[in-house]
Amino acid sequence: MAATGDRTRHPELALARWAAENMGPEERAEATVFTSGEHCPMCSAAHGWVGLGRIVYVHSSEQLAGWLADMSVPQPPVRTIPIQEVVPGILVQGPIPELTVKVRDLHRRFHRRA
Ligand SMILES: [Zn+2]
Repeated sequence: MAATGDRTRHPELALARWAAENMGPEERAEATVFTSGEHCPMCSAAHGWVGLGRIVYVHSSEQLAGWLADMSVPQPPVRTIPIQEVVPGILVQGPIPELTVKVRDLHRRFHRRA
């Protein structure tokens, strides 16, 4: 990802495109996408445009923004907003507190290394 400089290469976007090519509309609507971090607005939009179903995430975009601020890491260039602000009416579950701490520690390790 960093080697190409293409910061749009998010797995959630690739997944939405894959689903559009490989699943029918009903199958997509019944699908649940599990992810560590809440979708960014770009991926939320792709998810909504292809009609995928429920999203379950471990930590919210708001939590990530807070962790980045705590580590003095620059914020993403795109605003972190809840998925429901991009895709009204979508079923979303998260954060999952038991797992949030583990993902936060992964982000801390990644940014310490960078
Ligand atoms: Zn994204």
